[in-house]
Amino acid sequence: MTKSTSTCPFCNLGGRVLKENNYAQAFLSNPRKVPGHFLVTPKRHIEKPWELTIEELNDIFELIFFIEKKLVSKLGEGVDIRQNYRPFMEMGRLKQNHVHFHVYPRYNEDYLYQVSEKYETDLFTDLDPGENEEFAKLLEDNG
Ligand SMILES: [Zn+2]
Repeated sequence: MTKSTSTCPFCNLGGRVLKENNYAQAFLSNPRKVPGHFLVTPKRHIEKPWELTIEELNDIFELIFFIEKKLVSKLGEGVDIRQNYRPFMEMGRLKQNHVHFHVYPRYNEDYLYQVSEKYETDLFTDLDPGENEEFAKLLEDNG
């Protein structure tokens, strides 16, 4: 066990795992945003999402889709899936480096909408002319 895995809470979940398969595991986020806020992680400690193997991705999304179906039928009308890569943030209770996907239930004008997302609607704007071409070049760049 490396230093990062010995201190990583997602490598040391004990009895918190609620569902698992060969390469991935699911457990409740603590702290959480809403009831039913799950985290799905690879069992292996990795910090960059693009380092996931195809087997890990398959198992992660198998758990995500399993949980999505349960949440939609029991807790909400929809689901958000989110993966953040923010190495600039300080480690702490709200930031762990072990790659993880958030999965949580949503419904029309729910708590998350009321306290946060309704203020974000002004962030959406039409694409600038040439923006599509600019980002096409970024994706083609070999650097
Ligand atoms: Zn870890």
